[in-house]
Amino acid sequence: MDLCLLQEELNTWLNYNFPDTTSDKQLKGVMEELGELCHADLKSDQGIRGYTPKKTSAETMDAIGDLVIYLINYCNKKEINFKECIFMAKDTIMKRDWVKNPTNGEVPVEQLKCCLCGKDTAGRQRPNLPKGQSICTDCYSWLELAGIEKHLADTYGDKGYHFGILGV
Ligand SMILES: [Zn+2]
Repeated sequence: MDLCLLQEELNTWLNYNFPDTTSDKQLKGVMEELGELCHADLKSDQGIRGYTPKKTSAETMDAIGDLVIYLINYCNKKEINFKECIFMAKDTIMKRDWVKNPTNGEVPVEQLKCCLCGKDTAGRQRPNLPKGQSICTDCYSWLELAGIEKHLADTYGDKGYHFGILGV
């Protein structure tokens, strides 16, 4: 499912059904559903109020679905691209490695070797590349221009972060 399309569809639905709704109302909906999610989780943990695995699962899924829909509609009222928010956050958090660096999650900058030409490049080790290896900015630019390899950033990460950090 494409998240941009989903956001558009929900916007159409929202404007048709609730033309007078506000971002504040959608935000309250988010909090209400978060409360319902907590309620199901807590009562299930406590083993009270008839929260069988079946009831817990049904209410949990319902709350999560509603929560995200309210959140998307909040974005609709604020003209924020929902998908962009997720991808921005994902890009940021996935650069961190809390197993290796429990204090701040930051992967340390080190001198790496370009896996194509052997030149030094300062950067942060990517888990998908052999230890000590990265790419230099020249080779990266060359690959970019040549268009040989697609999804370069998926392999080598970001210039100025994973490789080609200046002044190190
Ligand atoms: Zn190189």
